[in-house]
Amino acid sequence: MMSREGTQLGAISMEFDISDMRNSGMLTILKILGINLLFIVVVLFLINHYVSPYLKLFINLQVGIKKAHSGNFTHRFKTTITGDEKSIVSNINTLFSKMQETFGDIKQNLSTFMPPNSSYSDDPLYEAKTIIHELSDIYKFKKTIELDASKSMVYSRIVDVLKIKYLIHSFALYEVNNISNTRKQLFCSEEYESICFEHVNLDALECRANRTHSNVISTEFIDLCKTCHANEFHYICIPFSINSDASLIISIAAKDLKELHKLNSIIPNIEHYLEAAKPVIESKILMDKLRESSLRDAMTGLYNRRFLEEFIDQVAKVSKRTKDSYSVMMLDVDFFKMVNDTYGHDVGDKVIVEIGKVLKENIRESDLAIRYGGEEFVVLLHNANEEGTQAVAQKIHAAFGALAFDVGTSEPMKKTMSIGIAQYPKDGDTIWKCIKFADTALYVAKTTGRNKIVHYLAKMSEMENVC
Ligand code: GH3
Ligand code: MG
Ligand code: MG
Repeated sequence: MMSREGTQLGAISMEFDISDMRNSGMLTILKILGINLLFIVVVLFLINHYVSPYLKLFINLQVGIKKAHSGNFTHRFKTTITGDEKSIVSNINTLFSKMQETFGDIKQNLSTFMPPNSSYSDDPLYEAKTIIHELSDIYKFKKTIELDASKSMVYSRIVDVLKIKYLIHSFALYEVNNISNTRKQLFCSEEYESICFEHVNLDALECRANRTHSNVISTEFIDLCKTCHANEFHYICIPFSINSDASLIISIAAKDLKELHKLNSIIPNIEHYLEAAKPVIESKILMDKLRESSLRDAMTGLYNRRFLEEFIDQVAKVSKRTKDSYSVMMLDVDFFKMVNDTYGHDVGDKVIVEIGKVLKENIRESDLAIRYGGEEFVVLLHNANEEGTQAVAQKIHAAFGALAFDVGTSEPMKKTMSIGIAQYPKDGDTIWKCIKFADTALYVAKTTGRNKIVHYLAKMSEMENVC
């Protein structure tokens, strides 16, 4: 019978055994996996053997170069690679050790010029550059001050260094006279507002920095130095000895602790400048002393005639502008020759020395006493009126007249002096003219009885001309 398409006629069951096929497939997969695994192992082995030393070297190079970048050349490179690469590594190691040695040497040599400073970097390259820069600045500073004409010029350069190079605005510079223990203010910035009490100028031992010869920093105690009225300020005072006679003090104010620490870190730099200036200041002090001694009379310690000449030149340049006036006194001991003749030159000398003391004791600091020659003296009173001048002349006249000289006799020797006075610019338009007029007045005193004070009058010159 014909059946229609799609009609299920009966079921045929068929059975296949595929376990062999599966086993063989699994085996094949396992083999492929095995081969792959082996390949990976071989590749890994090869990578490990050939590439990893390069990777290690690369990492090592990175570490070493990073250290070298900050100036540390102590790193040494290692590699297991043989051949050209090994020699490259060994060359780099040689280069690094040379760098290390060279920078070590440079650092050591530079530190002989300049002690290491905490403000410098750890990088020897940078440190060397900074120190060389600093040394070159100090060298230029030294060369400049060597040619400066005076000590005050050198001091003004130190002030400039503090202001311009270190940008310090609030400070004062003092010079201490170690013999008289006095202090003189050489510079004081407006911002400093005189933090240090002025009475220290009269007794420099009150200055802690000067007394202890060490830096005074108000970090812990704001009143560390009792003579600093710091208010809200902090301060650093740096003492610096020039020689046994003179020292400098730099006193710097800081608005807060942060600024104080910053200033503290540059103290060594400031000291390097002072160190460079020291021999120059010392020689200028010596020159000043020599000059001063050439302008002084050894017997009385008063200025001599040479000084008077220089002084008058100076006054001529500025007095018209400054409108300064001077009272000129000419003093001469009456019958002085008799002292020498009667009691000998030693007694005569003693009288001259005593006149020196009398003059110093009776004039102000702005006045000048000059041994004009023999037993003749000139005194210049700065900006004194006629009454004031007369008062000083009388004091000197009386003080000298009161002196009693022991000459080995029962009665001590007493002497008198005559004084002639002229006023600059009232009586003459130059000091020299006034000295001459004072001499004319002195002559009048001598010729009209001695032991008196005579003021110059124009008619005296007329009479002189007639004579
Ligand atoms: P007069 O009252 O007119 O001034 O008389 P006088 O004797 O003082 O005369 P004069 O002023 O001319 O005297 C100056 C004398 O001073 C002469 C000189 O021997 C003496 N003399 C000058 N310098 C010195 C010195 O350094 N030491 C001593 N002992 N005598 C001096
Ligand atoms: Mg005389
Ligand atoms: Mg005389």
